[in-house]
Amino acid sequence: MTEHASDKTALVLFSGGQDSATCLAWALSRFSRVETIGFDYGQRHLIELECRARLLDGIGAINADWAAKLGDGHTLTIPTLAEISDTALTRDVAIAMGADGLPNTFVPGRNLIFLTFAAALAYRRGIADIVGGMCETDYSGYPDCRNDTIQALQTALTLGMARDITLHTPLMWRDKAATWKLAKDLGGDALVDLIREDSHTCYLGERGARHDWGYGCGECPACRLRARGWSEYAAGV
Ligand code: ZN
Repeated sequence: MTEHASDKTALVLFSGGQDSATCLAWALSRFSRVETIGFDYGQRHLIELECRARLLDGIGAINADWAAKLGDGHTLTIPTLAEISDTALTRDVAIAMGADGLPNTFVPGRNLIFLTFAAALAYRRGIADIVGGMCETDYSGYPDCRNDTIQALQTALTLGMARDITLHTPLMWRDKAATWKLAKDLGGDALVDLIREDSHTCYLGERGARHDWGYGCGECPACRLRARGWSEYAAGV
């Protein structure tokens, strides 16, 4: 399973969603040690952070090698992001498309801030490799998910910290169906089932109804994207 054996430690941006859970498994299959970082920024779907413990337990149970590699988990609280944002992710307003063509779930600069905090923590802990689930294929038009943005930020962080920082984005060119397939390749049906059951995607933070793709309202853009990806994946398995 280990394609690129490494004696390095990676820091994974781990929110408790489908993408970051898959990225965590990806990192565990490549690095010798993996730490995680999550952010409490006043998101409506704060429940996603609570999903992390079950995912971590489950991922460790799937593969003893992975369990041995899992290191510290960090949670940073960034209330400032909600204070300066007026978005459907941080306020109780309906999700809609804005005049700029972006959905109002867009939190300006969110990934730039997350990756910069992650890099600062990585620096302090002697880690040079950061893994994030940014994706240009299925993205909702968020400009901070684009590969060009990530590459530019990698350059800025490396310059600004005078230390090589590599930003890994294994999902960048994968759609949601391909992300399910990657989970299958990394950890078999056990990992797919774990992510389906215990990862959280719904923007509204709903976990009441169980669909074949997992829990969520089924109507918000994140749920629809996850549902479509699952049906495409399931049709191809
Ligand atoms: Zn939803």
